[in-house]
Amino acid sequence: MDRRTFTRIIGLSALSLPFTSTAAFAQGPSIEALTGQKSPKLYSKDIPLRYEAGKAFADMRKAALKDRMKLHILSGFRSFNRQRTIWNNKYVQYTKKGMSPTLAIEEIIKFSTIPGTSRHHWGTDIDIIDVYKPMPKSPLETKYFHDPKHYDNMRKWMEKYGPDFGFYMSYTDDLVRKGFSYEPWHYSYEPIASEYLNHFMDVDLVGELKKRGVYGHEYLKGEIWDRYLEENILDINAALKS
Ligand SMILES: [Zn+2]
Repeated sequence: MDRRTFTRIIGLSALSLPFTSTAAFAQGPSIEALTGQKSPKLYSKDIPLRYEAGKAFADMRKAALKDRMKLHILSGFRSFNRQRTIWNNKYVQYTKKGMSPTLAIEEIIKFSTIPGTSRHHWGTDIDIIDVYKPMPKSPLETKYFHDPKHYDNMRKWMEKYGPDFGFYMSYTDDLVRKGFSYEPWHYSYEPIASEYLNHFMDVDLVGELKKRGVYGHEYLKGEIWDRYLEENILDINAALKS
C-alpha cells in the first residue's frame, strides 16, 4: 500500500473514532519533545534513540554485521541545552570579531542548527560510521564516505538496505537541494521523523528561543527565518516528508 492510500484510510477511520481518541491522535508530540527540551527514554547507552527507532537500528546493525560492517552511532539524541551552548558560543565569537548579528547568524547556520530545530532533538536521527574500518581524526567528512578504505561500503549498504529498517539519508547529495550540505553520515528514522517534522512546523519556535536565552533570537525573523525554515528544515530528502 502506498503512503497516500494509507493516509487516506487512516484519515477516514479517524472520523469514525470517538471524539477523545481523535483529539489524542491530533495532539501529537509536546513542544518539549519537538525541541529537545525533554529527553525521550533512550533505547540504550550505545543507541541513544527513542525506543522504536532504537529497536529498528539494533535490527539494522545486526543485518549489517552479516555483511561485515559494524554500524556505530557517533551522535544520536542531542538536547536543546547542548545545541544552545554551541550556538551561543559561536554567536559571541563572531559578534566579538565585529560581525553584525544577522551576518553572525548567517555564518553559524552554514554548519549548525538553531537550537530547537535540530533533527537530533527528536531521538530519531543519527550520525554513523563503520567501526570495522580505521577511524580518521574527524570522521564526519564527506571524503571518507566515498573512500573504500573508510565508509564507502557502509554508505552504499545504507542506501540499499537502510529503508528496509526505516532509515533514510536526510541531507542528500542533490545539486538542486538547498539548506544544509550533503551529510552522508546523517540518517533519520522515517516513521517517527516525518510525523515530527509535520508537528514541528506548527510550533512557535521564536517565542521559545526568547524564553530559553538563545543569543540573537531577536534577529531570527522575517526573511532570514523564512529562508531557514524553507531551506534548512524543509529541503531534505523527499522520502522524509509526508
Ligand atoms: Zn547529524
